[in-house]
Amino acid sequence: MPDMATTPVASPDARAPELSERADLHTHSRVSDGTDTPAQLVRAAADAGLGAVALTDHDTTDGWAEASAALEALPAGSRPKLVRGTEISVRADGVSVHLLSYLHDPQDPTLSAALARARDSRAHRARRMVDLLAEDFPVTWEDVLAQAQEGTTLGRPHIADALVAAGVVPDRSAAFASVLMSSSPYYVPYEAPGHVEAVEFVRAAGGVPVIAHPFAAARGRVLTRRALGEMIDAGLAGLEVDHRDHTPADRERAAEVARRHGLLTTGSSDYHGSGKPNRLAENTTGFDVLERIAELGRLPVLG
Ligand code: AMP
Ligand code: FE
Ligand code: FE
Ligand code: ZN
Repeated sequence: MPDMATTPVASPDARAPELSERADLHTHSRVSDGTDTPAQLVRAAADAGLGAVALTDHDTTDGWAEASAALEALPAGSRPKLVRGTEISVRADGVSVHLLSYLHDPQDPTLSAALARARDSRAHRARRMVDLLAEDFPVTWEDVLAQAQEGTTLGRPHIADALVAAGVVPDRSAAFASVLMSSSPYYVPYEAPGHVEAVEFVRAAGGVPVIAHPFAAARGRVLTRRALGEMIDAGLAGLEVDHRDHTPADRERAAEVARRHGLLTTGSSDYHGSGKPNRLAENTTGFDVLERIAELGRLPVLG
C-alpha cells in the first residue's frame, strides 16, 4: 500500500485524527447476516467519511467481488480503501470465538474447505432449529430461506427475520432475547474449526488473524487464558479492543494483553446494517495499524 506512506499525520494538538485516516475493520453485508448489499456497504462507508473499511462476512468471501466493483464505481476522491476479510467462527475448549482474518487467499484449499464446511453445518443447524421452532410457532424453513439470498451464510439472524415476518417477535433483538438465545430449548450448535487450527490455516492462506471482541462477557463465555495463549503461539496477529460489546475494563485488559505479546490492536463497529444498532465508524482503527495489516497480508488493500 505505497500511497499510505504519504498519509498526512494529524497535528499534535488535534484531539483525534480525521475519520479519513481511520479504518472500520469489521462489518457484515447480506452475504451473511448484515442487511446492506456489499455495494451498499462500501457506499455507506464512503458516506461515513471512513478512509478504509473491511468487509468481514461470517464464514465466507462471497461478498468481496461485489464490494471491489462498487469501490471502483465511486469517484476517486471519496473512495475508502477496502480490506477483504472474513469473520470465522471457531471453538476454543467449548467456547465460541470469532476470528477475523484479513487479506487471505480466498482460493486456499484448506481455508476455503473449512469455510464451506462451516456454511454447510450452519445450514443444517438452521434447519434443525426451524424444525424445533415450528412445533410451537408459525414458521417454516421456506420462511427462513425467503429472508436470505442464495448462498448466504445462514445464521440465527435469518431465523429471527422469519419470526419477525410471522409476527412472533417485534425485531431481531427480541428474538435473540428469547427463543434464539443459546440457552433456549430451540438452540442447536454448529460445527466450527478449533482455535489453533484456525489461526494456522488463516496464516497459511496469507491471512492476518485478529480475535473479534475477545473479552465481551456480555456475549457469553469468553475464551480462556490458555486458549488465548495457544492462539498467540500459533501466530495470532491482533486483538479487537474497541468494540461496543467490550466494557472499559474489557478494553483495558485486551490492550494490556496486546502490549505484553506485541499484538496489533483494532477498533471496529461490527456493523450489520439495520440488523443491529451498531453504526459504521462508531469504533475505528488507525492507519498505522492498517499499514501493518497490509504488510502482513497476502492480498493487497484495494483503493
Ligand atoms: P449464529 O452465528 O447463527 O449463532 O448467530 C450469531 C449472530 O447473531 C452474530 O453474528 C450476531 O451478528 C447476531 N446477533 C447476536 N445477538 C443479536 C441481537 N441481539 N440482535 C441482532 N443480532 C444479533
Ligand atoms: Fe453477525
Ligand atoms: Fe463476531
Ligand atoms: Zn461480526
